[in-house]
Amino acid sequence: MNIEQFYPIFLNAKKVTIDSRKIEKSDIFFAFSGDNFDAATLAEKAVDLGALAVIIENKEFENSEKNIFYVPSTLEFLQELSVHHRNQLHIPIIGLTGSNGKTTTKELIHAVLSEKFNVQYTFGNLNNHIGVPLTILSIKPEHEMAVIEMGANHQKEIELLCTIARPNYGYITNFGKAHLEGFGGFEGVIKGKSELYDYLKNANQTILINENDPIQFDKTKDYASKITFGKADSDYYFDAFSENNFVGLQYQNQKALSKLTGEYNFTNLCAAASLGLYFRIDFDKIQTAIESYTPTNMRSQVVKKDDKILVLDTYNANPSSMSASLYNFTTFTGSKTIVIGDMLELGDESEKEHKDILLLAQELGFDQIITVGKHFKNVNKSSAAFESTDQLIHYLKDNKIKSENILLKASRGISLEKAIDFI
Ligand code: ATP
Ligand code: MG
Repeated sequence: MNIEQFYPIFLNAKKVTIDSRKIEKSDIFFAFSGDNFDAATLAEKAVDLGALAVIIENKEFENSEKNIFYVPSTLEFLQELSVHHRNQLHIPIIGLTGSNGKTTTKELIHAVLSEKFNVQYTFGNLNNHIGVPLTILSIKPEHEMAVIEMGANHQKEIELLCTIARPNYGYITNFGKAHLEGFGGFEGVIKGKSELYDYLKNANQTILINENDPIQFDKTKDYASKITFGKADSDYYFDAFSENNFVGLQYQNQKALSKLTGEYNFTNLCAAASLGLYFRIDFDKIQTAIESYTPTNMRSQVVKKDDKILVLDTYNANPSSMSASLYNFTTFTGSKTIVIGDMLELGDESEKEHKDILLLAQELGFDQIITVGKHFKNVNKSSAAFESTDQLIHYLKDNKIKSENILLKASRGISLEKAIDFI
């Protein structure tokens, strides 16, 4: 099977899926084979469920009468099909990467641009070498724009994703200490994320930058096509304000208060508002979009539980987002407890980074500091250092946290959200 032959079948499909549980009538199922399981064994079943075609990488199950097609690599075929589809699309595509805040910024941009356009965007966090092709393939003729999140934990990954998504606009949320292991330190992060800038520059496309970020500013000094925000003389300038622990942005004399907490979200809001203004959306509408957007999935969520305010940020953590979160939490009024869990994937820098965060937390003077995970336990000699969330839960059963405000932040792998019910 080749791309040209397959493309017309794809155009008739409802959606493309790699998850056999999500197959619906008229879908295309891409069957991947893993170490323990080959989804090609489900090909016939997929057809019975109404799949229009199935792509498999195991010749044994090939059956062209049933539209079960063999290719040498399902992944490569998926990527090539998405490149082919991208080449037929004549809509602006916005690519996003960065160490922190990609999903939040993507959703804010989507909310703002949807005030005027029909915008397709990355579903959830599907931002890798499979998720980006799937997002591209989900773009239909009715879409007028797309916002694509691109994640990376090593060099050349963003470069590959750019060749698939071919963004016309790009934004790097920030350069932070995340995935240090895979990137080879902080310099490696800058290099790896900047592959988006390199692509946009070579392709004569447009970069959105925050001029307050010295790295973004320096890296893009000689770029011709830029949209800028952050400074008084940038294309767009916003002032920050906050109300009830939520961050807002002021544009000229109009204000928009979000449902997000954390000063770092101000930058995310600025990026979305700048693109909105650039695409000639009235600020009134941008305001509506910003005020209605509600974060989900434990990303800087502020919730009330009984008489307490909880900040739930257990979706992920790394040194940059952890320190940003801690600083933000100091601005809450009343007593404060932080429950912080390990920051994973830091490689050799792990011990130092955990030590630094603990020191920072101590300096910031919270009423109580609780840590969860082995990395923190190595450096935290207090009695409030637990090896796992389960141990923390055990402790919480007899020891209620007394503070009025409680921050929970950790890497995904710590599953700190399991503790919420016990607070
Ligand atoms: P992932 O790499 O998992 O896809 P992401 O880059 O999509 O993460 P989000 O899910 O939007 O990031 O946010 C995760 C957390 O990062 C937030 O809850 C918050 O703590 C922090 N964060 C968000 N925006 C920023 C920012 N601009 N700078 C620093 N930290 C941020
Ligand atoms: Mg994300």
